[in-house]
Amino acid sequence: MLALGKLLELTLAGREPTEKIQLTREGARLHWLGLGALEVTPPVGADCGLDLLLSAGIHGNETAPIELLDRLLQRIASGQLIPQARILFLFGNPEAMRRGERYIEQDINRLFSGRHEQSSGPEALRANELERLAAAFFSKTGRARLHYDLHTAIRASKIEQFALYPYAEGRKHSASELARLRAAGIDAVLLQKKVGITFSSYTYAHLDAEAFTLELGKARPFGQNQEVNLDLLEQRLQQLIENNEPADTRLDGLQLFSVAREVIKHSDAFKLNLPSDVENFSELPVGYLLAEDIAGTRWLVEEQGARIIFPNPKVKNGLRAGILIVPTTL
Ligand SMILES: [Zn+2]
Repeated sequence: MLALGKLLELTLAGREPTEKIQLTREGARLHWLGLGALEVTPPVGADCGLDLLLSAGIHGNETAPIELLDRLLQRIASGQLIPQARILFLFGNPEAMRRGERYIEQDINRLFSGRHEQSSGPEALRANELERLAAAFFSKTGRARLHYDLHTAIRASKIEQFALYPYAEGRKHSASELARLRAAGIDAVLLQKKVGITFSSYTYAHLDAEAFTLELGKARPFGQNQEVNLDLLEQRLQQLIENNEPADTRLDGLQLFSVAREVIKHSDAFKLNLPSDVENFSELPVGYLLAEDIAGTRWLVEEQGARIIFPNPKVKNGLRAGILIVPTTL
């Protein structure tokens, strides 16, 4: 296998490879662009016209998706997989990956769409770098653009594998992309209603890619990932890479949700009335007092069929402490 196929090893060691460009025997080109960043170009004449960005490790302790990308790249580097798509592999937060932490100073996935400019520190610099790498990759015209940003969640979930579909003014969510997600084993999709500050929100709204944050199960320590089954996703990614994806238009069983409200923490007095181990997608009855904050602010559930995702009362003031979602259709 080519040395550049060991991007994960290089990234964790913080090493720069001596050779930055290598060719597989089949003629695919691997180009190391910087720490945790590698671009794959298909052999001459084999390009199907898809630009595929695959990122993981935006949160450093989410090992299962990092290992999935490592397996795909190793297969390309050893000639087992012959790419027909251009691919950019990105490991989001190398320093946090090294330490096995979610982040060092702040959550990178709240620093995109220019938010890093109002901040400083290692994560702000990295978010800026990731935006530049993604923008350069998605700069060729007339090609299909797809980005999957792979994560595992902090907490358990009533729906184990789900996607967040970003929002941009004037753009419609794509039914065929939803069918593709369904075939990749995704059980639910949250359709967002405003432009966000995550990595996938940036590539969707600013780079015109189809883009998704995929939550693939609970982040667990090494050796305990057997319950995180990524087989369907792995198979679908290989098919995308090799351009032999079966046509799949069915949405059967895919649950769709939309954001009803984001619960914002305004002060240190913020109190979230949920058990600390509450699962994502837990249902909340109408009339439930979800949270309280300074100056008598109360968050009462008014929506039928409401559920909570990403509850986290420990976020910094001014940030989102949870999302209230409701069932929807396309
Ligand atoms: Zn994550």
